[in-house]
Amino acid sequence: MRLAYLIAIAALAAALLGLQPAAAAGVDKLYVLDCGHIYATDQSRWSPGVNVGVPIELSDNCYLIQHGQDWFLWDTGLADVLATQPDGVKAAGGALLVKRTKTLMAQIEALALKPTDIKSIGISHTHPDHIGNVEEFPQAMLYVQKAEYEWPGEDGKPRFKPEHPVTKLEGDHDVFGDGSVVIISTPGHTPGHQSLLVRLPHTGAVVLSGDAAHFQDNWDNRRVPPFNFNKEESLASMQRIADILAKEHAELWINHDKPQTDAQRKPPEFYD
Ligand SMILES: [Zn+2]
Repeated sequence: MRLAYLIAIAALAAALLGLQPAAAAGVDKLYVLDCGHIYATDQSRWSPGVNVGVPIELSDNCYLIQHGQDWFLWDTGLADVLATQPDGVKAAGGALLVKRTKTLMAQIEALALKPTDIKSIGISHTHPDHIGNVEEFPQAMLYVQKAEYEWPGEDGKPRFKPEHPVTKLEGDHDVFGDGSVVIISTPGHTPGHQSLLVRLPHTGAVVLSGDAAHFQDNWDNRRVPPFNFNKEESLASMQRIADILAKEHAELWINHDKPQTDAQRKPPEFYD
């Protein structure tokens, strides 16, 4: 009896000790940063046959996450140099107008951070409205799916500088090893598109879905843009995200959904 009692006490003590680092770990802050604005004359480029000829404005967000001493950046938005062109620049053969009203660097500085404080970056995919500033952080570990990294760019060029530190993923990845920030493989929009599950202590779980859907109506109706890399994978990834939302009781944060973005907290406010 006495031995069993001692073993039970020891197990309880070990469990309590084990809990201490876990309680100190986890996400401290999540900031939603303004990483550009996209204006389209015809939103049906994302919703085939629906709202043809109807213009739309999309948000373009980056998300900065503090985890203890580490800062993790999810997506880097349109290139900061765009901010020098207040009227914006035409893209996609004139179908889009892209703008930046403030730079990512200025927003990072406003939080009293330096670019070298950003220890790692995850990108949802390699379209230019998501990777525009990766090379502003040459020291940051880049988390990208192998399939995306090796997907040839225009003229067969590599999508990233070969010298940039990279972890090529083949599936999901728990960034800090404590389940607080988990990269979720959601291919389809591009070969190695990925999303991010963030378990916030007070807000609860959120899924940053990248471009798995571009706005709420497309998510609700499971619409796949015609230019996606793979339609079946796109649909399967949306279902996978829906399953995670249900299991985690998580909110879906759609990067390009302007009404949703407008309603979210902006720095210096944050989510925790
Ligand atoms: Zn995008």
